[in-house]
Amino acid sequence: VSVERVYNFGSGPAAIPVEVLEKAKGELTNWHNAAGMSVMEMSHRGAEFTKIAADAERDLRTLLAIPGNYKVLFLQGGASMHFAAVPMNLLRGMKKADYVNTGEWSKKAIAEAKKFCEVNVVASSEDKNFTYAPKQSTWKLSADAAYVHYCSNETIGGVEFQWTPETGKVPLVSDMSSHILSRPVEVSKYGCIYAGAQKNIGPAGLVVVIVREDLIGNVLPGTPTVLDYKKMAEADSMINTPPTFAVYLAGLTFQWLLERGGLAAVEKVNVRKAKLLYDYIDSQDFYSNPIAKEDRSRMNVPFRLRDEKLDAKFLEQAEARGLSQLKGHRSVGGMRASIYNALPYEGVEALVGYMQEFARANG
Ligand code: PLP
Repeated sequence: VSVERVYNFGSGPAAIPVEVLEKAKGELTNWHNAAGMSVMEMSHRGAEFTKIAADAERDLRTLLAIPGNYKVLFLQGGASMHFAAVPMNLLRGMKKADYVNTGEWSKKAIAEAKKFCEVNVVASSEDKNFTYAPKQSTWKLSADAAYVHYCSNETIGGVEFQWTPETGKVPLVSDMSSHILSRPVEVSKYGCIYAGAQKNIGPAGLVVVIVREDLIGNVLPGTPTVLDYKKMAEADSMINTPPTFAVYLAGLTFQWLLERGGLAAVEKVNVRKAKLLYDYIDSQDFYSNPIAKEDRSRMNVPFRLRDEKLDAKFLEQAEARGLSQLKGHRSVGGMRASIYNALPYEGVEALVGYMQEFARANG
């Protein structure tokens, strides 16, 4: 690796594998040293880009073992756009949807869905300040919901579902923005999975939607054409100009994951990384993490210093060591280490080493 890089703990936009960036850099002005132009400059209808997009879809299908009856879409507007697109596409003439509320991103999805349908909040962890994932046995599912939506990894709170909910015949929908591709997923248990790209996939703006084909084709009146999952599926996500460079970068990331042995191998590394950090946090009382142990996120680790007056100093000295973007979300305060796929084990070792030293010097 030729560039000097920090360990980037940002929650999104987040670290991208340096090998991916180097490859893109090498091809920036002349793709494959053959096209005579950047991917950014190519026609999305041309043979080269058509292949780039098809290869990206193929590799994502391989990584997640996506069954043939699911469509894979590369869309735009961020995950937030799909807070609206999900009800527009999946209500299918019904009037109600079930939502689980586990934190900030759930709340945003719920607020958006309320513009389109009756929302029944089937379970919530608000009673304990969103520090756990409500057990399936407590969910009060509706009989007549079009789908059940949850956020399987709450990026801000640091709560991750370590299990897949069972919703019977009612399709399960998940916002997987901040943990997609961090572990294998049983796609067949879902009606729809969607994820903004800027954590484990690539540049912000791109959204991956994986949707069961029998659920699409009955949109709410007024749904914009580019948000119609069926029409986009029929057009290979190219009714309009796709975010071509983002799709290309995503494709390089998928290759990078395949080269590392796929998601089962990637998951092992992620488990080790998270364990190293949580074990340290639990071993002392200078830092703390409030999340129920069985529901802690492997991707986003919020933590507080015992004395918040030290926060600014902690962040300043961290930056000076190349440990970047550790500031927690403004709604939660404290620190947050996002340790996505592109953040290596050594980065977590460096963070824990720094935390130990800082605690010794300031405890
Ligand atoms: N959902 C989750 C879980 C997120 O972490 C985020 C933040 O990036 C979003 C949705 C919103 O994504 P975007 O800003 O791309 O709309």
